[in-house]
Amino acid sequence: MQVDISLKKIEDRSYTIFIEPIEKIRNLSKAVIVTNPKVAGLHLGYLLPKIEASELYIVTLPDGEDYKNEQALNYLLERLFDHKIDRKSTLIAFGGGVIGDMTGFAAAIYQRGIDFIQIPTTLLSQVDASVGGKTGINNRFGKNLIGAFHQPKAVYIDTHFLTTLPQREFAAGVAEIVKMAVVFDKEFFAWLEEHDLYEEEHLKYAIKRSVELKAAIVAKDEREGGMRASLNYGHTFAHVIENETNYKRFLHGEAVAIGMVMANELAKLMDLMSQEDAQRVKTLLEKYNLPTCYEIKDVDSFYEHFFLDKKTQADKIKFVLPRGVGDFVITDSVPKERVFEALKRFTR
Ligand code: NAD
Ligand code: MG
Repeated sequence: MQVDISLKKIEDRSYTIFIEPIEKIRNLSKAVIVTNPKVAGLHLGYLLPKIEASELYIVTLPDGEDYKNEQALNYLLERLFDHKIDRKSTLIAFGGGVIGDMTGFAAAIYQRGIDFIQIPTTLLSQVDASVGGKTGINNRFGKNLIGAFHQPKAVYIDTHFLTTLPQREFAAGVAEIVKMAVVFDKEFFAWLEEHDLYEEEHLKYAIKRSVELKAAIVAKDEREGGMRASLNYGHTFAHVIENETNYKRFLHGEAVAIGMVMANELAKLMDLMSQEDAQRVKTLLEKYNLPTCYEIKDVDSFYEHFFLDKKTQADKIKFVLPRGVGDFVITDSVPKERVFEALKRFTR
């Protein structure tokens, strides 16, 4: 005897990412806006009149990566019970990636899963975190180690919110845009070289293109069995840098910028990338004042840190290396000597 359960694929959980000023979000039954004091202070007044729900609640969580934890999650879940949120209700994540990841995770586990909507308010969360369905929290063992794949019902990307974003946070988002272009799309990369993202129309196009590229990858490989790992370009190095600097010195996107420069050094040594292409990437990052230098004090220790990454399996480090601009390889067979040679270029 056998019983087959055919589970729905991602197509049945398709959703739309709107990149335009929010007009109205209609027909919600009970809804809860999850946000933090900073975003609420700046932008809740803009959002509230645009939401039509039979009942609407607001839950405010403390601001920052330090609060992307079990306590804040539990606080959020308790408020959902207080407000008698049910399986037909919708959570609205209104903030940067921290709020998005936590709200998404709460939506994934509250009564075994309810709907949620993303309204990302940082550039990084607009081009990256709000799309793709990865949700979760950090704990003392590391970042994003507890979580679920839970796709939103819709994503509303409104660049109005970015007008209040500090310059460094803006640039951190640009780093992830550059990442998408380097691995997937050489025309987009060339376009980025020619256009200034401080201009609204250009920024909108860059967001749209980044989101398209990410959506295409997620649709092919939702759970990162293969291709989705390409989004980790620069990240293997960035995670070590963030770790060595206790997550204090660099924003994530800044560490990714340096990480891409490091990955490019390795790609050059592996004859995958020309010096000229590596320079183009560096120049583009520098245009947005992103850091591209980092002094590695101890190469052995830096190398050992690769093995703390949750994406490093057994003794194999998986590198995403650009093949020129617009293409990539994922490899776990880079000789250790080559990695050392690349890392040594970042020592004094
Ligand atoms: P963040 O959410 O901490 O936001 C950065 C800061 O900007 C915060 O202080 C926030 O309150 C503030 N802010 C938000 N919107 C603002 C606005 N419009 N004007 C002024 N200030 C504003 O950080 P982030 O960079 O948005 O996201 C980083 C988080 O996203 C990390 O936790 C990371 O793990 C996660 N992430 C998730 C994914 C995913 O696929 N789920 C992908 C990338 C990153
Ligand atoms: Mg990233």
